[in-house]
Amino acid sequence: MKVYISADIEGVTGVTVWDEAKLHKPDHKIAQEQMTAEVRAACEGALNAGATEIWVKDAHDSGRNLIASQLPPEVKLIRGWSGHPYMMLQELDETFDGIVLIGYHSGSGTAANPLSHTLMTGVVDIRVNDHQASEFILNGYTAAMLKVPIVFVSGDKGLCDEVHNFVSGIRTVAVKEGIGESTISIHPDVAVNRIREEVTLALQAKPACRSIDLPPNFTVEIRYKDHYNAYRNAFYPGAKLTAPYVVEFEADNYFEVLRFLLFVA
Ligand SMILES: [Zn+2]
Repeated sequence: MKVYISADIEGVTGVTVWDEAKLHKPDHKIAQEQMTAEVRAACEGALNAGATEIWVKDAHDSGRNLIASQLPPEVKLIRGWSGHPYMMLQELDETFDGIVLIGYHSGSGTAANPLSHTLMTGVVDIRVNDHQASEFILNGYTAAMLKVPIVFVSGDKGLCDEVHNFVSGIRTVAVKEGIGESTISIHPDVAVNRIREEVTLALQAKPACRSIDLPPNFTVEIRYKDHYNAYRNAFYPGAKLTAPYVVEFEADNYFEVLRFLLFVA
């Protein structure tokens, strides 16, 4: 069994402010250690379920957060960014059996995590087919395009609720809840143990897990914080400026949506 793990940091246990998410800030160290512990637990859970190959994408900011030496020897770790439109799922292909998302977070336009956002922080809102899109949904469509099911998600409670509303059969662990600029987290060790157990159960139950339905066509609307970013990005081929802060793009093929997002978000 071949498993893909994509790891972000804003949905890791305890992480609350941007300084904890930034590589060169002293506060990053504790967040990086917990992110690594949660990914290691997911790897152990996958191995317990029979995984023989595990690819891990360090998918936050610089892509250089995870401490490689603390991951199991079966892991291939992807650091940095190749520039491929799959972004947080770089190197994913049809040969994988399941996807695990660790440390994921609520999207822009929601209040369930003090660090809520979707892709770049200058984006106020991304809607796909008139549905507010988190990074879980954007990556979920990539996974659906490649017919690899997302089997497990950990992150903030708002995201876990969204996962259950969006698709059935995905197991989740909510490690914290955001209230205003604060978070309430479970104990880091409890989070790690629950992630390990739930990833095992998720991969064992994989045949029951339905992949996300891929719509036949896509209308993407991005609302920017600054009007000049909307003006500039509306020059992407096929995109149009529909309001001073809003760019719209339509495509039948989700890969074209990803190519658009790579250049404008
Ligand atoms: Zn991130």
